[in-house]
Amino acid sequence: MSSLLETLATLPGASYTHPISTSIPSSSKLNPYLPLPSTSTLFTDSSFLHTVPANTSSSVVHVLGSESVISSRDKDSLVLISRTPQEAYDHSVLALKVAKSGISTFHFVGSAALSGSPTILPNVEEWLESSTPALNGHSSDPDAEERLNSAYEAAALSLLKATRRAQRPFVTHDSNPKPSRAILNFLPYTPELSGEQLIDISLASPLPRDKVRHAVKGFSEIIVLESGSGKYGPAWASVVDALEGSDYPIRSILAGSNPDIASALSSSAPVSRTGSPLPSPSIPKTSITIPSAESKYTDLLASSPSPLEILNDPASLSASESTSPLYAFGKAVAIRREREQLVELAKSVLKAPNTRTEVHEALSQWLLVRDEAASSQAGEKAEKALGEGSSADEKSLLELGRKGHWAKKNLWIVISNSWAQDLASSGLHHALASGLDINLLVYETASSPFSPLAPPQPSRERKKDLALYALNMGDVYTSSVAVYADFAGVINAMREAEAYPGPGLVLAYLPWGDKEDGQSVGQGEVAGPLERLRETKRAVSGGWWPMFRWNPAAQDGKQFILDSPAIKTALSQFLDRQSHLSQLTRASPAIDASVTSSKGTELVAARKEKAKRAYDALLNSLDGPGLLVLYASDGGTAEKVSKRLVSRAKMRGVNATLQVFDGIAANAVEALGAEKNAVFITAVAGQGESPLNGRELTKKLGTLSADSIGESWKDLKVSVFGMGDSNYWPRKEDYIYYNKPAKDLFPRLLSLGASELAPLGLGDDQDPDGYMTAYKPWEASLWRALGVDAVEVVEAQEEVVANEHIKIASDYLRGTILEGLADQSTGAIGPSDAQLTKFHGTYMQDDRDIRESLTAQGLEPAYSFMIRCRMPGGVCTPEQWLAMDRIADEHGNSTFKLTTRQTFQFHGIIKKHLKPAMQAINKSLLDTIAACGDVNRNVQCTVNPALSHIHQTVYDFSKNMSEYLLPKTSAYHEIWLDKKQVAGGEVADLEPLYGPTYLPRKFKMAVAVPPDNGVDVFTNDVGFIAIVENDKVVGYNVTVGGGMGVTHSNKKTYPRLGDLIGFVLPEDAIKAAESIMIVQRDNGNRQDRKNARLKYTIDRMTLPIFKKEVEAVFGKSFQPVRPFEFTTNIDNYGWVQGRDGNWHFTMFIENGRVEDSSRNQFKSGLREIATVHKGQFRLTANQHLILANVTPEDKPEIERLLKKWGLDNLNHSGLRLSSSACVAFPTCGLAMAESERYLPLLVDKVEKLLEDEGMRSDSIVMRMTGCPNGCARPWNAEIAFVGKAPGSYLMMLGGGHHGERLSKPWKSSVTEPEILALLKPLFKQWIAERNDGEPFGDWVIRAGIIKATTHGTNFWAETDAS
Ligand code: SF4
Repeated sequence: MSSLLETLATLPGASYTHPISTSIPSSSKLNPYLPLPSTSTLFTDSSFLHTVPANTSSSVVHVLGSESVISSRDKDSLVLISRTPQEAYDHSVLALKVAKSGISTFHFVGSAALSGSPTILPNVEEWLESSTPALNGHSSDPDAEERLNSAYEAAALSLLKATRRAQRPFVTHDSNPKPSRAILNFLPYTPELSGEQLIDISLASPLPRDKVRHAVKGFSEIIVLESGSGKYGPAWASVVDALEGSDYPIRSILAGSNPDIASALSSSAPVSRTGSPLPSPSIPKTSITIPSAESKYTDLLASSPSPLEILNDPASLSASESTSPLYAFGKAVAIRREREQLVELAKSVLKAPNTRTEVHEALSQWLLVRDEAASSQAGEKAEKALGEGSSADEKSLLELGRKGHWAKKNLWIVISNSWAQDLASSGLHHALASGLDINLLVYETASSPFSPLAPPQPSRERKKDLALYALNMGDVYTSSVAVYADFAGVINAMREAEAYPGPGLVLAYLPWGDKEDGQSVGQGEVAGPLERLRETKRAVSGGWWPMFRWNPAAQDGKQFILDSPAIKTALSQFLDRQSHLSQLTRASPAIDASVTSSKGTELVAARKEKAKRAYDALLNSLDGPGLLVLYASDGGTAEKVSKRLVSRAKMRGVNATLQVFDGIAANAVEALGAEKNAVFITAVAGQGESPLNGRELTKKLGTLSADSIGESWKDLKVSVFGMGDSNYWPRKEDYIYYNKPAKDLFPRLLSLGASELAPLGLGDDQDPDGYMTAYKPWEASLWRALGVDAVEVVEAQEEVVANEHIKIASDYLRGTILEGLADQSTGAIGPSDAQLTKFHGTYMQDDRDIRESLTAQGLEPAYSFMIRCRMPGGVCTPEQWLAMDRIADEHGNSTFKLTTRQTFQFHGIIKKHLKPAMQAINKSLLDTIAACGDVNRNVQCTVNPALSHIHQTVYDFSKNMSEYLLPKTSAYHEIWLDKKQVAGGEVADLEPLYGPTYLPRKFKMAVAVPPDNGVDVFTNDVGFIAIVENDKVVGYNVTVGGGMGVTHSNKKTYPRLGDLIGFVLPEDAIKAAESIMIVQRDNGNRQDRKNARLKYTIDRMTLPIFKKEVEAVFGKSFQPVRPFEFTTNIDNYGWVQGRDGNWHFTMFIENGRVEDSSRNQFKSGLREIATVHKGQFRLTANQHLILANVTPEDKPEIERLLKKWGLDNLNHSGLRLSSSACVAFPTCGLAMAESERYLPLLVDKVEKLLEDEGMRSDSIVMRMTGCPNGCARPWNAEIAFVGKAPGSYLMMLGGGHHGERLSKPWKSSVTEPEILALLKPLFKQWIAERNDGEPFGDWVIRAGIIKATTHGTNFWAETDAS
């Protein structure tokens, strides 16, 4: 290859090299980011062809070693094909000559032409300068084709004279005898075809029509041979065009690589394709499709407060411009240079003696603000003052100003796979070293190594490594961001890059960037925001995509800021110790185990090992047979059964130990080989998979062979007990998933050499006594097999549930929470403490999206905490709102949730931040005591702004009741607020109301003011319905026994709505609530948490007896229930005026998530509103927000702000306005399926079905939760979905439109396509058949689609779904 290249490189103008695999020693390099200078020569290969600037006027582009010839869309270009070295040389000089006429040439050089030494033209420069026949003008020539042909001919003639070598637009290889057909060959090589009339085309565009017509005269068929694999070839089209009017049959052969042209010739098909398809590079064009996912970033770019230009945005480029970064950079240079000129001209006009005063003033003002946002306005004023300009400088100044240079623009180049794929790695250095104030946004779209879809061989080209180049420069703003992990970080990075006066590089992670939503990304996964979010988290949490910002202009040593939240502390320390670059360059993403939290993990592991040894030593004192009990459990039941088995075994003298499946996965062969007896107890997850903590062992056993185990299991006896639900998968073909892990495991163990200890046992939730039906005989067979069945055992006292033990032992909710918080070796706290912290208003959670990938790396889960505030009635001040906003930023994940219980909830708070966050909440005069746990929780009340004094009454009642029923322990203040224990602990805490075991389960209360049932009063353990007479609350009707929690398929559990038991006067209401709570405290089921709520207590005791017990404690009888009517349980959006004249605005915050996203900037908006609002913020139980008590004078300003931030937008469908979802993934540990992140996407599709029927504004209460706990109250919605497994939901219908009736299970496991297919005909029918105003929930019952649920106890009746 080098000889031809070396020769060509000596030609005049050969001054530019484009990335090709061979270097050209004698050519001088130009900055590849600048547009090509005129008459330059570009060497490239076809893979880089699409990055060539589109406007290549007077240039020569040599495409070396080409397998195909691509047409240029430029009408001012020749396309030449060379098949021999001599032809290549001659064409090269010919092209240079043609370039003198402003014509560019694309020269395709076949591989065969690259080796061999051509005869060169002596005095080539002299020849190039010699005159050629004059041409007719330039691009204004109406017949560009003729002009190009003339130029070619003139240059060819001149070259013939100089070299005596004829230059022809095609070469004919005659065959004797003359065949009947002619083959026009546009391939860059000559195929070996005997007996064929082959015409090698050299001038492929424009095709010389007359010459071609002449050449094919006398043939009866024409065949066009060209490369390609599409519908038809462009060369074929140009031949058809050239032969227009003749009646030749013209066939097309499209050749790929290794084509069999002879066979294709023998076919008679009009189009034949042969060989494997070639990649199809193209010469730049402007019609570029940008994947919608990229708009996540470009929208943020566009939100810049300063004027901005994306230099290679396809949307704003003209046809002759290119999207390549190289071209864009050239534009940037020009823009910056022209602006400098503008500044210089302005200064010189100022100095000029004749400058008019108004011009002087206006220009001085502009110069002062020229780099600020006001520059544009000042420029306009200057332009006005200048008029048409009175001097040459003034005229030039005006010309530049009118080109848009008055305002300083932020210049961006976007490097995306879709429209500027070439990140010009060879020249990035030039761009960054330019010192220009210009920013690059580069997308990385590769999967991380933790992705389930990661390629086995990771790509060697990683865009994230560009950060290294940039950081090396030292003065380049550099950041690595991910919109799906840290939205605020992206905005920060973009704005910082813009503010920085030099070059900036923002690397943006966008997994599956080139996939449109809905496109498959493999293995049943589909591209979409959720998958992108999960993939991003895996990349970020694993350290593969560290998020950071390096701002050379930052002061106080804050140049390097790490934004990756999960690894913040550990990695920060690491980066302090190590070079930033070394971390970023690592090919392997592993964050060293000793560096991240794993240092702690190792300590924890060591501690655990020590504890296990001590435990083993204790057990070894037993002299019975050994038994290893292994369990895999997601929900905790299999774990509980296993623990109980171990304790029963010990009572029989069996030397039993307990392990989780995956605890022995790493050394399964040895661990089991060391045992004589092992039993495996496993539940089922997902579609018949092992629970999460059993997957490693299952996988390992799957890879073992009997040979690899040899004799080591010859003494091992095993048994397996599985726990499942035969009704879980309603379709017959899915029955195989029932107890699948156990059914697979037992034969597998036997096939690997173990023998049977006891037969396989399969527990079924559908059996009369649940899984225990099968478990009891299985356990008995186990004791028989171990020879201990005859041992007389006094069974342990009835087991007290673990939670009750924890409460008793906690010393009034202290436990070891303080010690756990101080332990920085792990992000977690102990399991018992995790139960206790709930009483303090915080739950430990972990990020479910990345749990598996962290486990795979041997790291502990990404633990963080959720904090829930206690805020009775959901009322707070603007100051408190601002405090919440700050807490989310400083301690959480920058967002917060307005919950269905009218309070604030923060997520993603790592342990180190837990205490500071609690303190900040208390400082704002809110607290978190009893926001969760087995106590009375946040008391809700109807937000009823139109009747403010009624609201005030019920609000005061809720607040007083909440205070009255608070736990009295001082543990909260000791732990979180650093208050000392009273008198050194001599004075013990006392819980006069709760006692040391508190309540059996959570306890919820709400107060409703008819006709508004927004709080869904019947779903609460205790409800108070205010009875208003003569504009005054005269008392409350009382309901008891509501509750939403259910366990899937466990028909002993059910949702329930409260029963009305009577009426109480306002002064008796708190006492009534306390009495109900006391009866529940003393009668609730403490043995089984699934049966512990008040609803079960009432149904067990019966309502009359329960009421009697309550009245006994109350010391009074309830009065008869007073009449009332509810008409709605959704929010009343928009402005309403209260009796006192003040205004209240209810806004729609989808699913209560307060955040800034690319769609809305609600968090920022509400922050600004909070700074001016003088009334209150009120949270609704439907997760929306009311700005309450806006005075008429303040209303215009509030309206302006609502409009500014889009918070006044209520133009949503009735369905969306009535929808709500719980948090679920990624933070809720109980979630089985998506909810908050998914419901808006589902609503998009369901509301479309309604819109198709013309029902956009009709309200249907639709709710979704990630698990059957039902936090968003799905069980009384008109349509509801409760997660069962990822993407699969139990579907309910028939709830009351204002919360008065439970729904009923309709379909057991539906996916999105099924949901849409089911709802479409239902909506159609409803619209056709409904009575006037009949709600959907009522209609489905009247139409017989579903039976009504009249009481919780018949929730599961008359339906097949479960
Ligand atoms: S309903 Fe279930 S998944 Fe949703 S937040 Fe409540 S517990 Fe979590």
